[in-house]
Amino acid sequence: MKIILLGAPGAGKGVYASRLKKTYGIPHISTGDLLRKAIRDKTETGLNAKTYMDNGEFVPDEIIIDLLKERLEQEDAQNGMLLDGFPRTIEQAKILDEIIKISAVLKFDTKQEVVLRRLGGRLICKGCGEIFNSHKLPPKQEGICDHCEEELYQRSDDTEETITKRFKTYEDQINPLEEHYKNKDILYSIDSNTDLICPECTVLNECKKILDTISKI
Ligand code: ADP
Ligand code: ZN
Repeated sequence: MKIILLGAPGAGKGVYASRLKKTYGIPHISTGDLLRKAIRDKTETGLNAKTYMDNGEFVPDEIIIDLLKERLEQEDAQNGMLLDGFPRTIEQAKILDEIIKISAVLKFDTKQEVVLRRLGGRLICKGCGEIFNSHKLPPKQEGICDHCEEELYQRSDDTEETITKRFKTYEDQINPLEEHYKNKDILYSIDSNTDLICPECTVLNECKKILDTISKI
């Protein structure tokens, strides 16, 4: 099962991916995460990508595509994956069509105000990548991951200015991408404006809907 998660920054792709990867036993491959790892490892790719990322701009296609191809060749990605952060443009979508055959595209629709509120409080685990939110989904112990007990951090590009820019870039690119996958009849839209987590049962509000959708693929 090869699934693309499309959505603005803060739409909830990462949170859903961390649930879906457990349900389906396929990896979550995020191009943003691959880049952040390259930066942490101080590779040449990482050094080249950092300025673009901190400015909320796209990293050049050659860099992203090389990183992605390398990741897709790994053992755990042979039965499928949840692809997050790629493609961002119609050009990238066409390149991807030549690499793998996508089964479904889940598009998360979110308003800008919701995105700003979510990303302002976003906390990410340094160890396992799990996502928390200081307001809506706090960890049990402040600053520490519930799952692996590593430290939580805030992304350096989660500032209001950069988020606004990333959101606009997303809006500028989404229509042709949406058309591309609609024409292939594999696009599923999900309203992601409501808060993701039900405070009582901590089940994702829309998760059932997504799982039902996927089961029909
Ligand atoms: P978000 O969706 O919150 O902006 P990501 O983690 O997906 O965050 O991406 C962070 C940054 O990494 C982007 O702002 C961009 O600079 C770079 N990036 C990630 N994926 C791509 C891509 N497919 N093409 C170009 N740049 C990318
Ligand atoms: Zn963790």
